[in-house]
Amino acid sequence: MSRPQITINRHGQDRIEQGHPWVFKSDITHVQNTSTGAIVDITTPKGRFLGRGYFNPASQITVRLLTRRKEEVDRDFFRTRLCKAIARRNPAAPSTRLVFGEADFLPGLIIDRYGDAIVLQTLTLGMDRLKETWIELIEEQLHPKAIIERNDVAVREKEGLLLQKGILKGNLPDNLVVNQNGYSFRVDPLEGQKTGLYLDQEENHLAANRYARGRVLDLFCYQGGFSIHSASQADEIIAVDSSESSLKILGENLALNQIQNVHTLGANVFDYLRSCQNQGEPFDMILLDPPPFVSSRKAIQSATRGYKEINLRAMKLLKPGGILVTCSCSQNFTQDMFYEMLLSASRIGLSTVLDCQGYLVLPMPLKL
Ligand code: SAH
Repeated sequence: MSRPQITINRHGQDRIEQGHPWVFKSDITHVQNTSTGAIVDITTPKGRFLGRGYFNPASQITVRLLTRRKEEVDRDFFRTRLCKAIARRNPAAPSTRLVFGEADFLPGLIIDRYGDAIVLQTLTLGMDRLKETWIELIEEQLHPKAIIERNDVAVREKEGLLLQKGILKGNLPDNLVVNQNGYSFRVDPLEGQKTGLYLDQEENHLAANRYARGRVLDLFCYQGGFSIHSASQADEIIAVDSSESSLKILGENLALNQIQNVHTLGANVFDYLRSCQNQGEPFDMILLDPPPFVSSRKAIQSATRGYKEINLRAMKLLKPGGILVTCSCSQNFTQDMFYEMLLSASRIGLSTVLDCQGYLVLPMPLKL
């Protein structure tokens, strides 16, 4: 029997040749010898080999590209990919994201390190079928004391997968504290948001420290990634989040790091910003890091309104020359849309801020 193979149309071919790592269902014209989860060859309408990936007919993203070469996709293949991803990261960082999915040519896979604990996410069917291989490779390469799965992510439903979380190997310490850039953070890989910390914001936390000064407002602060990194440069920080459990851990993090100039506030940021209008002292830096507002392409309009509202209100609360650090993690909201929204908000917002020199945008890495 010949190898499992799919043929795609010209549109899909162009996309793959331009570097995109996905084949959409609508671009597939022919399917041969495939089964769910199989590694398939991707070919052009004329039969030319484009690459190999794993196949899930239940998903609109039907094939995710693993390689553009005619090479075996086996345990050695994945071991090499894992080692290359680890080598790209800072070996001295005790807590860091080691595997960033598609960006490390391992679509659907996230591996985070929190000291001796590893958190694994297999977000696609192709990767989920390889879970045992990943556990073995993680043990072989990283020797952790615990491996945890955080597969309670809604995107798995689009792949026909169940949502689940738990300890896969070893024991998770009760009060896990990790060091990030010299600061201590309490982490709960089982109950915290994402895999415990927002490791995909690691570089931005550090970057914000360079701009922090005076009065700082950290909106959607979670457990204080930005506040704790900025505290040494600021006179005072107000950190706002609606999650009381996150603010409780932020309080513990402040104590662990002996920080006294961060004040936490449990509130809905939209309400808080409305209540700040025309009152209170303005800020030297405002950090805006909301949850995703766009879950599907259809929601773009309402998300734009939400983003514009908080960015506009934040701009109005800045001192002249103040800095806005603003983020979006909505995968359907492109960088161009984000800039366009910011421009539109700034036409109104910045006219109230004399001598404003512009603002700093720190786009987050693409969320998978
Ligand atoms: N800035 C954080 C990550 C923020 S994640 C860091 O870098 O670590 C988004 C946060 O927004 C979550 O903590 C969530 O509890 C909070 N949140 C969501 N909707 C909110 C709302 N309407 N008002 C206030 N906080 C909200």
